[in-house]
Amino acid sequence: MQPIPAAILFITSTAITAGTLALNLQPGIGGGMDDIEFSTIGATDDMANKPRYSKSAYDITPLTSDEIKTRAEKLTDEQRRVLLNKGTEQAFCGNLLDNHKEGFYACALCGLPLFSSDSKFDSGSGWPSFFKPFDKDHIHYESDNSLGMQRVEILCARCTGHLGHLFHDGPNPTGLRYCLNSESLTFFEKGEDLPAESMPVATETAYFAGGCFWGVEDRFQAVPGVIDAVSGYQGGTVNNPTYKQVCYSDTGHAESVRVVFDPKRVSYRSLLEVFFKIHDPTTLNRQGPDIGDQYRSAIFTTSDEQLAQAKAYIAEAQNSDRFKSRKIVTQIEPAPKFYEAEEYHQDYHLKHGGSCQIPTP
Ligand SMILES: [Zn+2]
Repeated sequence: MQPIPAAILFITSTAITAGTLALNLQPGIGGGMDDIEFSTIGATDDMANKPRYSKSAYDITPLTSDEIKTRAEKLTDEQRRVLLNKGTEQAFCGNLLDNHKEGFYACALCGLPLFSSDSKFDSGSGWPSFFKPFDKDHIHYESDNSLGMQRVEILCARCTGHLGHLFHDGPNPTGLRYCLNSESLTFFEKGEDLPAESMPVATETAYFAGGCFWGVEDRFQAVPGVIDAVSGYQGGTVNNPTYKQVCYSDTGHAESVRVVFDPKRVSYRSLLEVFFKIHDPTTLNRQGPDIGDQYRSAIFTTSDEQLAQAKAYIAEAQNSDRFKSRKIVTQIEPAPKFYEAEEYHQDYHLKHGGSCQIPTP
């Protein structure tokens, strides 16, 4: 992956729209281009078996080529030309160019929300224009060197349908212009009934404390069906605790991890199994070299069902060969308020490499 050189975008932003657009050519506005990365991720059959989720909890698992083919059958010839064959509709002809209603714009092929009405602006280009995507995980970027130009193509992250191109002459706060084809989009007005493919997944939340949260977060994040794992503090008496307070004063908080998951892809029971594989539930207020009640083993439940399942799981585990001679001391209680840890604790192993000395499930 490589960042798009701003200079290239500056030059090429005149290309597609030459003669049709009064450009505001001021490279660097908003600086949003720094966040843009090329990606080779696409809808390969191999990847379709690995669930992926966006930060806003949409299922963005790449569609297989068969799924794309089936969905393409419902499209018009013009939609197929644009979405599947990277076509461009005539400027000032798209049916969504002058749409000012409140709602969001989804991929016409797979239904994934791509842009919201609150980021739409009138660029004068003749194509619907937005300054940021609905969720950055819903868009992929590829370098496009066709027509003798260097441009940045934007594609749907779930189906790789062609959407349009990205330019560096948009308004604040990003300075970006996502130049779209109406043919690639389906508009849903606010309040309208949505098809399942355009809705976020129904998520469930679980909390686990099992020693240093860096490693626990890292392990849960890798479980297929887990949408997000976040490090934090839970179970103590101090509001908005800092890491320093949790380490050096008597806050009563445990280092805990909030796990948001898709119950259709992974069960709570499976998460309990992972939890008991990656820590030692028999050492009171301790995990290996880490000693103190912040490292205690605890399950904080979010429903009566989770509470019952956690209790039953521990009763079962206690009678297993692994634990029959060692008492499980894991605390179970309905989840108290969870305080997210400081940003530098999040995705710690992802950012810094390495891993804690805990087993991988
Ligand atoms: Zn799509």
